[in-house]
Order: sequence, then C-alpha cells, then structure tokens
Amino acid sequence: MIRNNIQSVRERVAAAAARSGRAAAEITLVGVTKTVSVIAMREAAGCGLTDLGENRVQEAREKIESFNTAERKSVRWHLIGHLQTNKVKLAVDLFDMIHSVDSFKLASEISRRAATSGRPMQVLVQVNTSGEDSKFGVLPEEALDLVSRMSELPSVEIVGLMTIGSLEASVSDNRDDARKSFALLRNIRDEIDRSRIDGVEMKYLSMGMTNDFEIAIEEGSNVVRIGSAIFGSRK
Ligand SMILES: *Cc1c(COP(=O)(O)O)cnc(C)c1O
Repeated sequence: MIRNNIQSVRERVAAAAARSGRAAAEITLVGVTKTVSVIAMREAAGCGLTDLGENRVQEAREKIESFNTAERKSVRWHLIGHLQTNKVKLAVDLFDMIHSVDSFKLASEISRRAATSGRPMQVLVQVNTSGEDSKFGVLPEEALDLVSRMSELPSVEIVGLMTIGSLEASVSDNRDDARKSFALLRNIRDEIDRSRIDGVEMKYLSMGMTNDFEIAIEEGSNVVRIGSAIFGSRK
C-alpha cells in the first residue's frame, strides 16, 4: 500500500518535473508523517523515502526517539509546522531542516541553540503567499528584508523558501490561486537571488502538498511535502 503510493507519487512528480524541463532527481519528496504511526514511517523509509516531515515538535520527538540511532540517521528530518520559541532547543536536536521560520526572533533563537549544539541549522523562510490570515509566514513584501537580517546570524544557514498554497486546491477555482501563490514564491526567490546576500543560497523552494504538488512543481518547486497521498487520509 505505502510502497505503491510512493511509487505512484514518484511517477507523478517525474511527469510534472518533465513538464517543467527538469529531472525527477532534482525534486525532493518529503513524506509528511503527522498522525502516522512509527510502523508506517519505518515502512516508508524502507521503501527509500529518506526525507520525513513532521508538524509538531512533541509528536516528532516521541516518534523519532523510538527509532534506533542507525535508522534515525538514515532519515533527513524536516520540521514543516509552526515552531514556538520555547520548543527551539528540542527542534534543533531533532531536525535537519526547519521549513517554518517566519520571524527574526525565532531565527535568532534557532541560531543561539544551534551554536550550542555545534552545527548550523538549515532553514527555509516561510512566506504567506495566499493572504489567508490563518496561515503563518512572513508577508511577501517583508521576505527579502527578513532574509537579509537573518543572514547575519552565525548558526542558521538560509537555504530557501517555503509556502503553503491556497487550501482546498482540489476545488478547481482554487487551483489558479495555488498557482499564483507558487509563482509568487518563485518570484521572491528570484528577487533574493538578485540581491546576492552573503551566505544565502536559495537552493530550495518547498511548496506543494497532496492536492497541489504537480502545480507547484510546474511553478518551480523542488521540495514537495506529501502526506495523505502516501499514508492515506488523516482522521
Ligand atoms: C499536513 C501538511 C502537509 C501534507 O499535507 P497533505 O495534504 O496530506 O499532503 C504539507 N505541508 C504542511 C505544512 C502540512 O502541515
């Protein structure tokens, strides 16, 4: 089941990549495992899904700690959900990349904690491209300024941007909104690239979920975060 789902998502990723003139290998598939059991996570990792994403630090901790050291190291762990300052220490210990940095205060705390742990943390700046106020993320017009201030922090390595497209992209009206969100994130990435900020390399655009990942890839995504298409729908 999980194996077939991963296979079919990979085929769809490859087809969308081809439509945007890229190779499937350029696109990282992050399996989103919120609410998913450790057994299913192991199975997915065993099928070669080596990037896993969690939303909540506490849930992630319980699950990640039940992996043995070798298993744990064979996975790249992504934090994709909102992060509170008081959970940063734990997050820095657990994750390899944090996708949801949306304030200088949060970035400073990540840098401080990462310095103590002895390795810089790779982060993405989350941008609210849809204008929906229920969503976290810095405003599009503030992203460049935040990235440039964050570039002064010694122990965060800014490697790209993340966004959540318009919700309910399965509804056709919203597909255009999703596409606009993704194009906006790509344009912000290009603007930041042109600014040539020291120490900032915009390698990743993390955008696209089960309902909209093909649109996201067509608009330049190279990291897609897929939950239900792999693990089934959540309760
Ligand atoms: C839950 C979640 C996903 C995956 O959602 P699906 O629709 O199940 O693929 C991706 N990104 C974020 C930030 C999420 O919270």
